[in-house]
Amino acid sequence: MINPTFTYNNPNASCALCDRKKNPHPDYSHEPIVTTRLKLRRGDQDLCINCYWEIVALAMNSQANILDIVNEKLNMRRLITKNAPSISERYIRQPDNPNAASTKI
Ligand SMILES: [Zn+2]
Repeated sequence: MINPTFTYNNPNASCALCDRKKNPHPDYSHEPIVTTRLKLRRGDQDLCINCYWEIVALAMNSQANILDIVNEKLNMRRLITKNAPSISERYIRQPDNPNAASTKI
């Protein structure tokens, strides 16, 4: 297993998987998120401490490699982001009247 080094108090910290920038812990909500940097084939990626430990648990349960899991998740994320319309173009159909004009969110 990789021995993670966590970075605290980096005001520019963000997570490559969940996009989180604010610390979700209620006692530390005034602090930036805690991140660790992983060296992947495509370059270094910062993950928040929550995503990191989730992936460690997944790796232990599935006997998979942590970096392989992160690569897979980043690939899926890229596909979803690429195929999803931007938020400004996203519309929701009204379920009770599918022919009605869509509502912008
Ligand atoms: Zn995260």
